[in-house]
Amino acid sequence: MPRFEYAPAPESRSIVDIRSSYGLFINGSFVDPADGGSRKTVNPATEEVLAEVAEAGESDVDSAVRAARRAYDEVWGPMRGADRAKYLYRLARLIQERARELAVLESIDNGKPIRESRDVDIPLVAAHFFYYAGWADKLRHAGFGPDPRPIGVAGQVIPWNFPLLMLAWKIAPALAGGNTVVLKPAETTPLTALAFAEVCQQADLPPGVVNIVTGGGETGRLLVEHPGIDKVAFTGSTEVGRAIAKSVAGTTKRLTLELGGKAANIIFDDAPVDQAVEGIVNGIFFNQGHVCCAGSRLLVQESIVDDVLARLRDRMAQLRVGDPLDKNTDVGAINSAAQLERIRELSAAGEAEGADRWSPPCVLPDRGYWFAPTLFTGVSQAHRIAREEIFGPVLSVLTFRTPAEAIEKANNTPYGLSAGVWTEKGSRILDVAAKLRAGVVWANTFNKFDPTSPFGGYKESGYGREGGRHGLEAYLAH
Ligand code: NAD
Repeated sequence: MPRFEYAPAPESRSIVDIRSSYGLFINGSFVDPADGGSRKTVNPATEEVLAEVAEAGESDVDSAVRAARRAYDEVWGPMRGADRAKYLYRLARLIQERARELAVLESIDNGKPIRESRDVDIPLVAAHFFYYAGWADKLRHAGFGPDPRPIGVAGQVIPWNFPLLMLAWKIAPALAGGNTVVLKPAETTPLTALAFAEVCQQADLPPGVVNIVTGGGETGRLLVEHPGIDKVAFTGSTEVGRAIAKSVAGTTKRLTLELGGKAANIIFDDAPVDQAVEGIVNGIFFNQGHVCCAGSRLLVQESIVDDVLARLRDRMAQLRVGDPLDKNTDVGAINSAAQLERIRELSAAGEAEGADRWSPPCVLPDRGYWFAPTLFTGVSQAHRIAREEIFGPVLSVLTFRTPAEAIEKANNTPYGLSAGVWTEKGSRILDVAAKLRAGVVWANTFNKFDPTSPFGGYKESGYGREGGRHGLEAYLAH
């Protein structure tokens, strides 16, 4: 049967106006760093330098924390919840108004397909602000006592995989609860956080309520270790999370950690296979697999494994890898050279340990950071690719015979962030979900997010919940 080729359908980047350099956003204004430096942020799809971005040093972080403290003591802490809500609604509406610009900017700085930034990331960002705006004047009805109080100044550090969405997860509940924030975006994806700083100015948010300090790991460390911080919220690697937990231990700071994952996506023999294949693809190739809750371990019941793999290979061959700004693209660029190296290294280890590697034929662009969607079969639980988080478009397939074996294999990981179950039987969904040690279990779907639903992990995936009513708890003293 003849196949029609897709014509290129690139989203125009003329809607974004990227400055050549950016300062730090402290006390409502962009300022030059006093003792820091700067670093470049690049477009991972082309390696083009996008902007020179300030790197906050010790005195910059100190200025930001002081600004947040003043704003907390004098303006935001004492403000009525109903008034805080007005600001949060205003932020949500401005994000909606600037949605197209923010989506394009996110795709340029991160490498994710425009279809995802436009249809998933940015709508969820706005939804988070709308949702928590609704809570701001109802905190006493949230189930945390008759008069829950804010905690104070939050120091928040986020990763590069969902830059603006992770910012929303952190900032919206903090502000709704009456806290002020200093947030550090990841060094490879600072641009949408800086655009959000402009949105705060547009919304006339009182100076100091939101401060954005850009920089690398050292800036993050200075922030979380600053004595003026009351609450630390971190999303990123388990290794850094562990270091932060140590540095916070013995202080009065509150801490929530959202770390890595190695989720099992379990396909039982009565599952609707075509839907399951869509769920497998969405589970691991969404956002190039740069997803802490990615379904990176596929567990398939042995009796249907040949059928599932044949259909999965067909489906993977349809994935379009390339220009993130093309509206037909399914898999974009890997976020950085360092991450690409890690994915290559772990994939090479998979081959060296004896697993079978397969990728569909696909032509990768010459410049930029790219990795073809990859499937490993013949994987054993001892292989590194079955144990370690790859954080890339790489799927490891294992099999099982009985539900008990599936549960045992799924739980055989130091992580516990998410899992998926595919079966036609409702009773099996309930039974298996209750036995999986994972913060989120999706049934006959995967990677679905909603601001009303709590998200977080067990074991080395961290502690604390973000989203929903539970997400408020981390920002309230009661
Ligand atoms: P990372 O933990 O090094 O970085 C996350 C954030 O923490 C960044 O903003 C970084 O600048 C900051 N940071 C680094 N060192 C710090 C320190 N000592 N104190 C305070 N902040 C610090 O993660 P990464 O290098 O971006 O990615 C490495 C691995 O982490 C990935 O391969 C993946 O396995 C995992 N990861 C998980 C998530 C998640 O959502 N759970 C997100 C990104 C990365």
